[in-house]
Amino acid sequence: MNHVTAKIGAIILAGGSGTRMGGDLPKQFLELDGEPIIVKTLRQFAMIPAVKGIVIACPAEHIAHTESLVTAHDVQKIVAIVPGGETRQGSSHRALLAIPRDDDEIVIIHDAVRPFVRVKTILACLEAAAKTGAAGVYVRAIDTIAEIEGDRVRAALPRGRLHYTQTPQAFRYSIIRQAHEQALAAGITDATDDVGLVVAMGLPVAPVEGDYKNIKITTPFDYVLAKTLVESG
Ligand code: C5P
Repeated sequence: MNHVTAKIGAIILAGGSGTRMGGDLPKQFLELDGEPIIVKTLRQFAMIPAVKGIVIACPAEHIAHTESLVTAHDVQKIVAIVPGGETRQGSSHRALLAIPRDDDEIVIIHDAVRPFVRVKTILACLEAAAKTGAAGVYVRAIDTIAEIEGDRVRAALPRGRLHYTQTPQAFRYSIIRQAHEQALAAGITDATDDVGLVVAMGLPVAPVEGDYKNIKITTPFDYVLAKTLVESG
């Protein structure tokens, strides 16, 4: 881990309201194996010595609940819990602003609803970002991806180069801060990941291999799958 500096800030995005799951409680607060999903996710980052602080973005009405969860489950290194934005991009930007500006720092951003992320994936992503300036975690697309517009299939995209985007994604602080500022200046507010903003600036992003178990718990089916994954060990 020679390339990973001692200064790493983590951002856990939990600002979604979870409408695709149904029910009132956003999915990041549902229980998995006796613990809220967000707590499991936070632990994976808190246990890495180089991670100095964690900022959480969550819906404003759940900040007090999140605070009490973090305390009750004794999750370490939480430095701020900020209200999320309307979009994932907005939540990511708000969390970024809560990290004191330090252009040498590496910022690693992860979805709260991906509790199965492995520590070795987080470390690989940090190392790649320290070398290249930006890195993201990907797995190869298994299905052929189609582009559909209205009632027409426009393209069946060649699968060889296509990948599913996972998180974490990690960046040198100066790069991700500038990427967010440029996106906002261009009127972009609904990017679904942070790497896209850096790619739009023409900067290199290193791909890091993820694994299919690092699912994003979004739908009721994902939740069933997550429980099965826990049971299978
Ligand atoms: O929207 P999506 O399902 O891709 O969400 C990925 C992550 O981004 C989730 O952990 C969700 O809580 C977070 N998010 C957020 N703020 C939003 C929307 C999503 O932090 N406004």
